[in-house]
Amino acid sequence: MSRNTVMLSQNLNPFVEKVLKDEFNLITMPEEGPQALGAEKAAEIRAVVAFGGFSAAQMDALPNLEIISCPGVGYDGIDTAHAADRGIVVTHTPNVLNDEVADTAIALLLNTVRRFYSAEKWVRDGRWEKEGGFPLSPLTVKGRKVGLYGLGRIGLEIAARLEPFKVEIAYHTRSPKKGVTYAYHPTLASLAEAVDTLICIVPKTDETHKTVDAAVLKALGPEGVLINVGRGWTVNEDDLIAALEAGTLGGAGLDVFYDEPKVPSRLLDFDNVSVLPHVASASVPTREAMAALVGDNLKGWFAEKRPVTPVPETPVPPKA
Ligand code: NDP
Repeated sequence: MSRNTVMLSQNLNPFVEKVLKDEFNLITMPEEGPQALGAEKAAEIRAVVAFGGFSAAQMDALPNLEIISCPGVGYDGIDTAHAADRGIVVTHTPNVLNDEVADTAIALLLNTVRRFYSAEKWVRDGRWEKEGGFPLSPLTVKGRKVGLYGLGRIGLEIAARLEPFKVEIAYHTRSPKKGVTYAYHPTLASLAEAVDTLICIVPKTDETHKTVDAAVLKALGPEGVLINVGRGWTVNEDDLIAALEAGTLGGAGLDVFYDEPKVPSRLLDFDNVSVLPHVASASVPTREAMAALVGDNLKGWFAEKRPVTPVPETPVPPKA
């Protein structure tokens, strides 16, 4: 039996190729996109593993495309409406990264509030011996009121990790979450008024665009802290920089940025800002698990049209 051909996008999680190579014929997407493949090669491709997005035009360059597998949980770069129109199934990798991302959120919170990056640098730069102890961190995690903007798969894991810190926990989502006892706020504005720490873990959608704005940041207060492990899209970075400059916000910890990998240079000047290069799920074990789920989705699709984790926009009907 001939193997199905899968096209891998550039800069992919390295474990994906390992998982797929024994079962599929793999080709790498040209830098110019699938349009550069030529008609014969393009017609061979039945599946794509796409990191960072896949447009309608890219899909239309592949006449026999059946499935697009995204090696991440956020699939905002994939034109799912067009995929649905064409009958192409899109899959992603939920749940297997929840723990890693939640751990990163907590680490970023502690790092930002207690300034551990600067403290470690103090030791490494030899300043402890020469100049004495590192300055006290103005803020503490103790006694904080933490608001989660998003309480889905990852948000719930972040909340569970916050409980032993004995902080108050509240959240905002579009609808209240069944079975949780954290205080629910029907608007982001009301959540921001009620807390001093906001952790963002919502997807990139039209509705979440730059919703963390000047008013939300001001409501967190001068000792307030913003943590973002969702998408940079959610935060108005100009407003964030202005709030930090004015001292109306106490600090920010960011794993994601509006136009990453570009990070506004002004953000790097603040001692009370901790920045990471979008590494929330970036450990070998978690990326291996994500790659394994990409493999299970493609294998499930080609074996019996049963991908494991299709996205809601391209549901796969149950077997008749
Ligand atoms: P889920 O879909 O499980 O949860 C999303 C949560 O956001 C839900 O609670 C949902 O509640 C809420 N939400 C969605 N839209 C809105 C809105 N307009 N207003 C308020 N709340 C909203 O997703 P995950 O927890 O698995 O992942 C969340 C996001 O985190 C991903 O989409 C991805 O972009 C990002 N992410 C970032 C990573 C990184 O490396 N930094 C790694 C992994 C994920 P409701 O529907 O009730 O509104």
